[in-house]
Amino acid sequence: MLINLFTNVFIENFYIFLFGAVGIIIALLAYNFIRTRHLKTYRDMLYNDALSSVKKSTYLEQHFTDILVDFDRDVAMYYINIDNFKNYNDLFGFHIANNILAEFGKRLKSVVDHDRVFRVHSDRFIVLNALEEDHDRTFSKKLLKKLKEPYLMEDQDIVLTVSIGRYDIKDTNPKFYDAILRSELALDEAKGIGKDQMVVYASALKDEHHNAFDMFHLLKDAIKNDSFYLEFQPIVTAKDEKIVGFESLIRIEDKHRLLFASDLIYYAERFNMIEDIDRLVARKTFEAYRLLKENKVDFEFLSMNISAREVRSLTFVDYLKSLLARYNIEASNIVIEFTETLDPEGLADESKFIESLRNLGFKVAIDDFGSGYSSMLRLSRNTLDRIKIDKMFVNDILNSASNQALVKAMVNLALAFELDVIVEGVESKDAFEFMRDLNIKYIQGYYFYRPMKIEAICKIMTK
Ligand code: C2E
Ligand code: CA
Ligand code: CA
Repeated sequence: MLINLFTNVFIENFYIFLFGAVGIIIALLAYNFIRTRHLKTYRDMLYNDALSSVKKSTYLEQHFTDILVDFDRDVAMYYINIDNFKNYNDLFGFHIANNILAEFGKRLKSVVDHDRVFRVHSDRFIVLNALEEDHDRTFSKKLLKKLKEPYLMEDQDIVLTVSIGRYDIKDTNPKFYDAILRSELALDEAKGIGKDQMVVYASALKDEHHNAFDMFHLLKDAIKNDSFYLEFQPIVTAKDEKIVGFESLIRIEDKHRLLFASDLIYYAERFNMIEDIDRLVARKTFEAYRLLKENKVDFEFLSMNISAREVRSLTFVDYLKSLLARYNIEASNIVIEFTETLDPEGLADESKFIESLRNLGFKVAIDDFGSGYSSMLRLSRNTLDRIKIDKMFVNDILNSASNQALVKAMVNLALAFELDVIVEGVESKDAFEFMRDLNIKYIQGYYFYRPMKIEAICKIMTK
């Protein structure tokens, strides 16, 4: 009876059911199509380098074993760096420098299989090629010859040289980081002995660069064991010498020796561990913010450092956004400091990056202002909150007329663009008074406070 009723309803409404079913199928297909396209676009962005049209080295990192297996024999890794690329940038401008990089990528792809060329960043590339018996005389020679042919750019022939570090991967279970590190050490060696040549990694190099290997494992373990911590250096106002903020500075727990933050960051960038570390620092800075507030410490801002590499990251800003929600912090209380990028095409990325940080409400400071070469350009875009004058300009300020002139010029520029100025490395009363008289707003330096652990900060602030 019931079955009959359903059958009748079905027959009477057959076309409606049919159209409905077809509609659902079309919708599902369309959804699937759009989703696949989105995924593809996302993957392309993640793995393909738009400028040089080769893959990014993150792709190699993630598919290293598979790529090696595909070769089915020993592989040579070439770490290639254009000699003095910054000069081309300064001489010919961004546009031509970018075109050189694009052409450089094309040439690399013309000598090896497309999928075996990777851009690390800026003018650093990696090429993988099967290790043949006569490798030095065949492939290496061809590669060098191709890269050194003149680059015709807007009617001028530009000739460049390259330094190459080669590592012949013969290990039974090769690791991406070991291979990169070894080829990079060979590259350093090539640059150290005068550039414009190729050096093949040999184990003697490893001994010479023991420090790098050591740092590599130290950093890797520290990330795994979370043995980084932060110190905080108070920042005072010049006007009334009152603490208004703190800069977080990374430290590592190591019983055996003293580690400098600048070394730590230098190696973390070299070994591509910096993104993990920047996230860790961000999380710990936000945690500290909460702790200070819970301890009723009165302050205006926490300033944290990130690597200029984050400018290219697709996810770092999202991560910061998620931290704001997790720790319930007003973004305007956090200052993000980073140094000027030196990449030719980096400026556009950097502007976008700064814009997205500021859209979330963060304050952005250019660290070590004046040490990069495009500072003026950056100011004219008027998209910053503050600049930080590096301690190298402050050293010996009272005896150095040129440092005085430089600092004055930087301060005047910043004030003209209505940016706050903070000066670091103030170690004496005289230096402090000099800066204060220039109308600099914030002062940081050993004259007032050294960096300290969070507990010490709570103590001095709640006395
Ligand atoms: P920076 O961002 O320019 O940091 C300021 C450095 O100057 C700190 O050294 C600080 O301890 C030191 N300093 C402050 N006042 C004085 C002073 O009066 N005299 C002298 N001689 N030095 C002073 P630190 O902590 O060794 O950091 C060195 C660099 O390492 C930093 O330079 C920054 O580039 C990098 N760094 C530190 N922490 C982080 C971090 O968490 N993330 C990233 N990406 N980089 C960091
Ligand atoms: Ca800084
Ligand atoms: Ca500095």
